[in-house]
Amino acid sequence: MSRYPVLHVRRGKERSLINRHPWVYSGAVARVERPGSDAVVEVRFDDGSLVGYGHYSADGQIRCRVFEFCQSEKTIDADYWRLKFTAAFEYRRPFLIPMTNNAYRMINGEGDGFPGVVFDRYGDVGVLQMRTPGADSLAPLLSEFASEVGVRHVLWRKEEDGVWLVGRKPEVPFREHGFWFTANVETGQKTGFFLDQRNHRKLAFDLAEGRRTLNAFSYTGGFAVCAAKGGAVETLSVDLSADALERCERHLRENGLGANHRTLKADVFDYLRSVQNGAFDFVILDPPAFTKHISTVEKAARGYKDLNMKAMQILPPGGLLMTFSCSQHVSPDLFLKIVFSAAADARRNARILYRLSHPEDHPVSIFHPEGEYLKGLVLVVD
Ligand code: SAH
Repeated sequence: MSRYPVLHVRRGKERSLINRHPWVYSGAVARVERPGSDAVVEVRFDDGSLVGYGHYSADGQIRCRVFEFCQSEKTIDADYWRLKFTAAFEYRRPFLIPMTNNAYRMINGEGDGFPGVVFDRYGDVGVLQMRTPGADSLAPLLSEFASEVGVRHVLWRKEEDGVWLVGRKPEVPFREHGFWFTANVETGQKTGFFLDQRNHRKLAFDLAEGRRTLNAFSYTGGFAVCAAKGGAVETLSVDLSADALERCERHLRENGLGANHRTLKADVFDYLRSVQNGAFDFVILDPPAFTKHISTVEKAARGYKDLNMKAMQILPPGGLLMTFSCSQHVSPDLFLKIVFSAAADARRNARILYRLSHPEDHPVSIFHPEGEYLKGLVLVVD
C-alpha cells in the first residue's frame, strides 16, 4: 500500500496531466483514498500507473496541484523541498546582482514547482503569500530554508492580517537598479512592491532621457524614480491612493530628485480627459487588473482600449507609450488587439518597439499558461 493517500484520475481525463499541466479539477477525480486537506497525495491513472505527487485540496474546483511528475515512487520530505528551494535560489543567482537589486521573487508558484506559493524577498525580509492549504503546510519549512540564505525576518501575509514567523520588520528599505525604495510588507499592495515590473522600470530608465513623463497608476513611484534617474526632464505620478503618493514623494526625495518630479492624487481616466494634448512625451500606463474573471473580459477590454486611446491622443508625434495589462484573462494577443484598436480610434500610427512580459524571477511553466498574467508593449506613436 502506498504511504500517501492515492488520488485516482478518472479514465479519459488523462490528457492534461500527460501534458504536465499541474492542476487536477474535481471532474477529473475518480476517487481519493484517505484524503486530508493540505496532504500530499500520490496521483495515479486508472491503470495504476504513477503520475506524480501533489497537494490535495478538499474544496474548490482544483482538487490537486501536482508539484512532482515522476515515474517511480518518491519520498516527499523536508529534504525534497530543500532541494527544490535551493534550485529556485540558484536559478536566480545569475540574474540578480545584490548590490543593485536585493528585492526579488524567490518562489513563483507553479513556475518553480511550488504550486500556490509566492515568496518575495526584500533584503533580509521574506514575505510569504499562500493560495492553497498545501502551500500553507510548507510555510515553516520555507521560512527555515530562507534563514539559511540570509533572510532574518519572515512574514506570512494572510487575507486578514499577517503573522511574523521569524523576527519582525514591517518597513523595509531595499535597492532596485541601485536606487532606494522602502516597502511596507504588512500593508503594501502584493507583498509591498510590484517586483514583477523591475525590468520594465529599467527600460523606463533607458527610454526617459529628455522626456516629460507621465507615470499613470504610479503606486509608490517605482517608474517615476527610474525615469527621472534616466534623465526625464519632468515626471508626474498619478494615483488614487494618498498613501502610495506619500511614499512616492519620499522615494523621489530619497533618491535626490527635485521639484520637477511631482505627484497628483486623481483618477487617471479623469486626468487624461483634462490634460492638454502634447503635455507629455512618454506615458507609462500600469493599471490594476481590470478583470479577475473571464466573464468580464469584454468590459475590461473596453477599459484598456479607452485608456490607451486617451494616452495616445495626448502624445505628440514621436511620443512613447509603455502600456501594460496584468489581467490574467487578457492574453498577450488580445492585449495587442486592444492597443491596435486604441491606435486606430485615436487615428495615430503606432509602431511596436518592445513586447514585454515576466522578469526572470517570475518564471512561468510552459505547461501552465495560467501563470502568465503580465504583458506590455512599448510603442512609438507618430
Ligand atoms: N506602476 C506601479 C504599480 C501600479 S499598481 C509600480 O511599478 O509600482 C496600480 C495602482 O493603480 C495602485 O496604486 C492603485 O491605487 C492605482 N489605481 C487604481 N485605479 C486607479 C484610477 N482609476 N486612477 C488612478 N489610480 C488608480
